[in-house]
Amino acid sequence: MESKLYVELLRHTPDPEELVAMAARLCYSQTGIKDLKDKVSADDQSKFIEKLISMGHLSPLEHICFTYGIEGISRAASHQLVRHRIASYSQQSQRYVDANNFDYITPPTVKEKGLESEFMRDMDYLNDIYVKYKDLYKIGNGSKEDARFVLPNAAETKIIVTMNARELLHFFSKRTCNRAQWEIRAMAKDMLKLSYDVAPTIFKYAGPGCVTDKCHEGSMSCGRPDDVRKEFARYLN
Ligand SMILES: Cc1cc2nc3c(=O)[nH]c(=O)nc-3n(C[C@H](O)[C@H](O)[C@H](O)COP(=O)(O)OP(=O)(O)OC[C@H]3O[C@@H](n4cnc5c(N)ncnc54)[C@H](O)[C@@H]3O)c2cc1C
Repeated sequence: MESKLYVELLRHTPDPEELVAMAARLCYSQTGIKDLKDKVSADDQSKFIEKLISMGHLSPLEHICFTYGIEGISRAASHQLVRHRIASYSQQSQRYVDANNFDYITPPTVKEKGLESEFMRDMDYLNDIYVKYKDLYKIGNGSKEDARFVLPNAAETKIIVTMNARELLHFFSKRTCNRAQWEIRAMAKDMLKLSYDVAPTIFKYAGPGCVTDKCHEGSMSCGRPDDVRKEFARYLN
């Protein structure tokens, strides 16, 4: 089944790694603001940034932000995403946008078990119920506002999210891990790929804890750190 997931990096802070290096250099030198930019752009800053990250001096990463447009995810996935608090979100509203004939995400296991037709019928049935409460009964102050209560977690949603690079490193450590749910994991991996393309030094070591360290999942570990390291190896080259 083809995935409906679509992730686009809409905007990011210009010259992100240069800005991180400027913020960090300021901490350690007598250079004034005016000379800082020349100083930073004169040399390759990648080793310096790597050192910062390895030391855990991560506040300079908060100066650079990345904004992603995401669609083709379920409300089940977006609910997990918005649990990450150090971020900004704008999500398509089920209060204002009519969900008649709503699109939905079908879990891969539904196809694996040959249940696609049944799942589709059930989604159509839920759509009929939605329309019944919205158009026939006109419940609530606005007809969509309360009718949406019968929509499933599978309902497709669109969201724009902005995070700074420090939060992204945290987000990727949690959500690219095999322990994360399949949908948010696929989304986080797409976000990581896009972020790596514009800030490779910063996102080089991003990923589940086991990529650079030991697994932090304890008894819940997937037990396959070597496979995970292999999967993320392209970032480490
Ligand atoms: C595999 C997995 C399973 C999960 N299962 C469940 C579940 O069953 N039920 C459930 O409710 N949630 C669950 N979650 C969600 C999880 O508990 C977090 O809410 C979510 O991952 C957001 O991450 P966060 O709280 O670390 O950080 P973010 O909100 O992304 O914040 C980043 C960091 O900032 C700091 N921070 C932010 N806000 C505060 C604060 N108020 N006080 C102190 N420090 C703060 C923390 O250090 C935090 O790690 C699960 C997450 C994962 C990855």
